[in-house]
Amino acid sequence: MPALQSQGVDVALGRVNNGPQMNIWNDMQAELDELAAANLLRSPEVLDSPCGPRITVGGRELVCMCSNDYLALANDAEVKQAAVEAIEKWGVGAGASRLVSGTMAPHVQLERSLASFKHAEAAIVTSTGWMANHAAVHAFVSKGDLVLCDKLNHASILDAVRSSGAVMRTYRHCDVESLAKLLDKHRAKHKRCLIVTDSLFSMDGDFAPLKEIVLLKNQFNASLLLDEAHATGVFGRGGRGVAELREVEPHIDATVGTLSKALGGFGGFVAGKSVLIDTIRNTGREFIYTTAPPPALCVAAKKALEIIQTQPQRRKHLLALADMLRVGLGEAGFDTLNSQSQIIPVIIGSADAAVDISRKLFDQGFFVPAIRPPTVKRGTSRLRVSLSAGHTEADIDAFLTAIRKLKAEN
Ligand code: PMP
Repeated sequence: MPALQSQGVDVALGRVNNGPQMNIWNDMQAELDELAAANLLRSPEVLDSPCGPRITVGGRELVCMCSNDYLALANDAEVKQAAVEAIEKWGVGAGASRLVSGTMAPHVQLERSLASFKHAEAAIVTSTGWMANHAAVHAFVSKGDLVLCDKLNHASILDAVRSSGAVMRTYRHCDVESLAKLLDKHRAKHKRCLIVTDSLFSMDGDFAPLKEIVLLKNQFNASLLLDEAHATGVFGRGGRGVAELREVEPHIDATVGTLSKALGGFGGFVAGKSVLIDTIRNTGREFIYTTAPPPALCVAAKKALEIIQTQPQRRKHLLALADMLRVGLGEAGFDTLNSQSQIIPVIIGSADAAVDISRKLFDQGFFVPAIRPPTVKRGTSRLRVSLSAGHTEADIDAFLTAIRKLKAEN
């Protein structure tokens, strides 16, 4: 203080600086006001119940048609019991990052189970799926390398590529010709080339054309990183995802998954060759510089993984309901894009109209918020319906009746 005062600087805490820099708050408010005027301001509903096919919001019971808890494991009795017992045994927090004292037996056991489930040499658990994408992309590429991304890849992939320093080119959604052209034009200029795609797209519910992408990856000597966040547990006879369904697993260089969707918990993982996993363990900033995930969540995820492998009827029921809903929506004249999955977009158009129909469905007992820009392109605001194995045919029927009626009234 004396040094500052002797330089003539006023450090009295009682005097608030109202200079031009304080306009930052006005700027922020103006940006929020703009969002509000465009009906794009977000303020989430608060649940008074656990996640599940039926939830309570503001004292009302609703059918939840928008969570990613696809196999109804987030509140499953067996998974919960495993987690509770694990908290008793292992406590709540891991207390340190993985490379300090945060690696406990549950972390390692889960990583072994994930590797064996995905038929991979090794797997590594990260605190979120978002971080798994960052860790995987950064292990594959850096400045001077080339990454080719589907335009609709998840934000965590796009941000990971941007922060890697590699050159990113995006190809048109699921368009292999567009990908081939980019490879043709740019591949030779770069040492490493990585193709990254969601296997099941989170907002459109469609699949990446994996067989064609694999052909191109082999032809152009590129690597392929596949984000199976929404497909793990749901597709393939063994529930391993779209790569299993399309019989291309040996060609996938690495898979990213999340523990937060079909596995009903929280966290992410990367599965692939040991050399890749060792690289992430030794250089991945997303792995090294953060506290290890709570051990009980690892135990819960391991239990969920067992259920996925022993109870295929959950995914069969889920996909049968999804077929039923897609057919019903199509017959009612709704555009569901090219959805082939438990994620079914119902295109409404303007953000205003999407918010309006979402509110009306809420009033009739269905929770399915509007998805608006910037999450999706302007003019394609939608209801993103996502189903759960905990839903019944009666739920689908009731939803179809409600949405048909709303369409007829408009
Ligand atoms: N990949 C995709 C395709 C996703 O949709 C998401 C989350 N919505 C993630 C990764 C990130 O996973 P997490 O929620 O575990 O951070």
